[in-house]
Amino acid sequence: MMSFWVKLCFKTAAPKQHHFHIPKHSIVAWMAILNRLPTRDRLSSFGMQVETGCVLCGREQETRDHIFFDCVFSRKVWLGILLACQLRRDCMTWELELGWAVARLKGRSLLTVILQLSWNTFIYVIWKERNLRIFQRKFSHEDSLIHSIKDIVSIRLRGKPVSRVSEINSRLCIEWRLV
Ligand SMILES: [Zn+2]
Repeated sequence: MMSFWVKLCFKTAAPKQHHFHIPKHSIVAWMAILNRLPTRDRLSSFGMQVETGCVLCGREQETRDHIFFDCVFSRKVWLGILLACQLRRDCMTWELELGWAVARLKGRSLLTVILQLSWNTFIYVIWKERNLRIFQRKFSHEDSLIHSIKDIVSIRLRGKPVSRVSEINSRLCIEWRLV
């Protein structure tokens, strides 16, 4: 189990370990992996008097596992990203998505690089949306977050040498505007 965490943390989220990483996104993802983000269930367990509901869906309790891949709001965002990666599958639980990321995000293919960046950026924008809703009463739509993630990844990768020889790469270049 330890090697699982080490592998994921160092290859997927740890700052400075990833060639294309975006530091502030990697830090939030790293904290999420360690379950150190101040989610409402954790604040409550520390004895703080806080609301316990999820501000993204307004239906469930806010936990790390809920807000990132279980919440109807974040599921829609992640499914939009998977679809943009030409991956047609359902959104899974936090644990399974994490396991999938560890197993899947190896190598240097364009798809892998996009997914690595997207995974961290997804965690970052969901956490940011949660904070904006709680502290500034600002609400964005799921589609707007999908656009944000795609913009961030696109800007990060634009100008980098990308092979468009394969069909998957040429489709990814169009979808992620890497031209
Ligand atoms: Zn929710």
